[in-house]
Amino acid sequence: MTIEHYPPRGGLESVLAALLRATLQLLLKPMFSARVPIGFQRFWLRLLARTTLVPRGSSFEAARVGGVGGEWVRPREAPTRSGTLLYLHGGAFCVGSPATHRSLTARLARASGMALFAADYRLAPEHRFPAALDDALAAYRALRERGPVVVAGDSAGGGLALALALALRDAGEAPPAALLLLSPWADMALEGAPPTPPPGEAMLSVGWALACARLYLGDVPATDPRASPLRADLHGLPPVLIQAGTDELLHGQALQLHAALQAAGVPVRCEITPRRWHVFQLHGGALASADDAITRLALFATSAHAADEVETREVVILGAGMSGLCGAVGLARTGMRDFVVIEQSPGLGGTWWDNRYPGAQVDVPAPLYSFSFAPNPRWRRRFAAAPEIQHYMQDVAARFGLLPHLRFGVRITSAVFDEADGHWLIRTRSDATNSGRTLRARHFVCSTGPLSRPRLPEIAGIETFAGRMLHSARWDESFNAAGQRVGVIGTGSTASQLVPPLAEQAAALAVFQRTANWVLPRMDRPYYALDRWLAHLPPYAAAVRLFWYAVLEWGRRGFDNGTLARRGMMRSAEVLRFMNVGDAALREKLRPPYPLGCKRIIYSNDYYRALSRPNVELVTEGIARVVPHGIVTEDGREHAIDVLVCATGFDVEHSLNHLDIRGRGGQRLADAWQGGPQAHLGLTVAGFPNFWLMLGPNTATGHTSTLLFIEPGVQWALRAMQELRRRGARWICVKPTVMQASNAALQARLGGSVWSTCRSWYRSGDGRIFALYPGFTREYVRAVRGQDFADYEFG
Ligand code: NAP
Repeated sequence: MTIEHYPPRGGLESVLAALLRATLQLLLKPMFSARVPIGFQRFWLRLLARTTLVPRGSSFEAARVGGVGGEWVRPREAPTRSGTLLYLHGGAFCVGSPATHRSLTARLARASGMALFAADYRLAPEHRFPAALDDALAAYRALRERGPVVVAGDSAGGGLALALALALRDAGEAPPAALLLLSPWADMALEGAPPTPPPGEAMLSVGWALACARLYLGDVPATDPRASPLRADLHGLPPVLIQAGTDELLHGQALQLHAALQAAGVPVRCEITPRRWHVFQLHGGALASADDAITRLALFATSAHAADEVETREVVILGAGMSGLCGAVGLARTGMRDFVVIEQSPGLGGTWWDNRYPGAQVDVPAPLYSFSFAPNPRWRRRFAAAPEIQHYMQDVAARFGLLPHLRFGVRITSAVFDEADGHWLIRTRSDATNSGRTLRARHFVCSTGPLSRPRLPEIAGIETFAGRMLHSARWDESFNAAGQRVGVIGTGSTASQLVPPLAEQAAALAVFQRTANWVLPRMDRPYYALDRWLAHLPPYAAAVRLFWYAVLEWGRRGFDNGTLARRGMMRSAEVLRFMNVGDAALREKLRPPYPLGCKRIIYSNDYYRALSRPNVELVTEGIARVVPHGIVTEDGREHAIDVLVCATGFDVEHSLNHLDIRGRGGQRLADAWQGGPQAHLGLTVAGFPNFWLMLGPNTATGHTSTLLFIEPGVQWALRAMQELRRRGARWICVKPTVMQASNAALQARLGGSVWSTCRSWYRSGDGRIFALYPGFTREYVRAVRGQDFADYEFG
């Protein structure tokens, strides 16, 4: 497995990291010195550890396991998973204790949903090698009797965890389910380490590390593989996750260990966080990068420890985007806590995780892009940017206690309904461990969202392009357009957001437009301290939300011919074009050739201005082919390009085809949807019992917030789940006749609508409009809420 980089994000994180680093370099690093007595170092570390942020509600209980002292660390809620985490703290075998690592151990226990035992193994110089290893082995053996054990450790504790796994392998004993090694010190000789740590290192110095090694090892050479497992034969170890920062003395050692494990055939993953120091995960709660790293540790631990068990859950949710999150909150609020959320990305966010291109913003006002049950008074702009939305989602997940239910980096490969048993058998695959497992669930909630499968354009020669190619939904955040010749294919909502920042950076930017789109002004503004203060008052927040709801509902009228709303929108699009594009020829190229609203309307104040810049060219000649160093248009001109950005949207029509979903009688969803996706109210599909789609077919909206469509869908799915339980039945499924009738009515309504007048992602290959809901939000809500269980069959 490869080395993954996780650059920290956000201005707040940079400021906090700078402050923390300076504090550690001032208060901690000087104390970790051979000149300071060990007793004082221990006292000082204990004192400083009290300032770290231990999550509220965590419980710590002193205990002895296998005769070894330590403490049980348990999440606020009872552990949701079997198996145990054994944690071995760092401190170069001379200082540190479970108490000094509580901010990390408590977060790890919470994020994994596993009980964690932090061992207080014996320290040097009082107890020399192999005392620490003996204690770790004794604690492990006792824990192993209760079930699988994942062993984690930082720094010296990381090296100790590795030594423990080697000792178990050599003794032929049951191995740990996985190893989590945080900045592991795996070669006590420090061979190959830089003579001085990188300037950003906030903890370790070479002198202190070597002094500790001498105190611990006594006469044993530092090259002894039992003390320096990097020098051992590493074959036959369980899956390993290594995490390290670039600003640390042991960065190089982490990479060496990764290479050595890989060479030995051990499944290993190495995660590097740029600009972070030794065991930065201790600063969870303050640094988002630390929280993210801990979440990934938890994911690795949970997916490894039970790779081969069949795990039974009441509900499995696929996708941790807005709709998956809403479903999870709904389950938690109704007390149905027996669920897991499976997400292939390494973090929460769904589309907001995927779409990290510069300028990514929501295009409805943020007060309406928050759940009705979780208003957010902290929005900083009316049209929030992607990272802000991700933070909001993280807050919601934490607030409703969802973290232990989330499994990142896991894909669902198939889901087969077992009619006799009334359960879905769902196969998953973990990216981290490359292992598969089976979940058995009564209900399968599919909340992947329609815009999850990026689509590359089918253009001759695209595979021959020799420069860099990026899709907007698979952005590389380290990409810098400065000095580059960039080509953007596409002029939809995404392109309109990423073109302005790219235009500012790139030496030259060519925007390839196939169809000009309708662009309306974006009524954006910052939310000031007063706005945020007022937003804490529930009546004010509710009034703002209601106001935007009403405004956007009014905007729905803009899709109907002859309305005042439509005339107003068309006029303001013209004015915007006229005010922002001085060049009449360019203005003409930007005139949309289709009726307003047929494709998604773009809201932007800077797109037109960006296109008018001297370093930007709007290319309207069709693309003939891509060549290794550019694009040739139909007029024969070659546009030289270093970087090709595809803002070409998503494969909405086949968005679930990569999953093998089988309903009653083994019917495949891909077959049922051969003429394009269809469902009843976008929620349920005849023949697929206990299967709930979130934002399914015909629920996309061209005028308002998708969240307004998600919430009623979730409420209905919950009601149906409860009804199933109340009746003691095994399954519930919409009747085929009901689904046919609702789709026929929908298609009749869509037939003569504005959406049938052009090509867009709302339509399938044969022209059927399968993605969009034609009505007002209140109509949809009424239709979903007003359903009758007589429309459903039970089995
Ligand atoms: P899109 O609307 O499907 O636009 C794709 C663009 O790529 C179109 O301009 C399309 O041209 C062009 N294109 C595709 N294949 C091409 C080819 N072979 N040659 C030349 N041009 C090609 O995709 P998107 O912009 O990513 O937006 C998708 C949806 O995501 C939006 O409608 C919106 O719902 C959502 N979105 C929301 C936000 C937000 O909330 N802030 C932001 C971005 C996206 P044609 O028009 O000629 O087909």
